[in-house]
Amino acid sequence: MIRLYRIEHDGGPRYAAETEGTWRLVEGDIFGAWKEGPEISSEGARLLAPVQPSKIVCVGLNYKDHAAEQNKALPAEPLLFLKPSTAVVGPDEAIQTPAWAGRIDHEAELGIVIGKRAHRVPLHQTQDYVLGLIAVNDVTARDLQNKDGQYTRCKGFDTFAPIGPCVAMGLDGRDLSVRAYVNGQLRQDSRTRELIFTIPELITFITSVMTLLPGDIISTGTPSGIGPMVPGDSVTVHVEGVGALTNKVVAQ
Ligand code: MG
Repeated sequence: MIRLYRIEHDGGPRYAAETEGTWRLVEGDIFGAWKEGPEISSEGARLLAPVQPSKIVCVGLNYKDHAAEQNKALPAEPLLFLKPSTAVVGPDEAIQTPAWAGRIDHEAELGIVIGKRAHRVPLHQTQDYVLGLIAVNDVTARDLQNKDGQYTRCKGFDTFAPIGPCVAMGLDGRDLSVRAYVNGQLRQDSRTRELIFTIPELITFITSVMTLLPGDIISTGTPSGIGPMVPGDSVTVHVEGVGALTNKVVAQ
């Protein structure tokens, strides 16, 4: 398995490919042809958001346990909403919460990073369009979600889409643990085998609606255990095989 990190290197963003702890600079385009270049030290490397998606397509209520805690019926088909590209932040960047917005929740999710332009992809071909997997924190202003009855405002604040720490290539997403920790305390703990709609089903469904571009992310939904974060908290989304995505919460 290769993990692609986007790092600050010699004053600019570069990709590095990590295999079993060894980091090598990427030469070429991660969405096209690339090869591994010289080995580098990972020590002190500042991690950036691994991709710059044109959109993040999120799936609501895709774990049975989360639908139950929200008192919502299981959806007959995936419930989609978008997070804007401007909400993206990388590992260790701050989640900025406006005090007037009320309760702000973490949502630990497995994300799928699209590798090439995807339009009406049949179920049996979906794997060809996946670059790799990523961790996503679908930060949500819960009070505003309940008040608005739709998701654009509550999910769309700047900094409400932490992604990272890498894109894990060649990782089987069918049964990975997905966890959230707040200040080191375990708050969400489930596995992707509990997904109502699977990764291939989501890719086929979403690309029947909209074209996905290289770097776009599908965030597959959150399990039960969602809860509030407050300024000063440190929140970690951990996806097995991908790693830990940690962000501090600060008052905007
Ligand atoms: Mg979510």
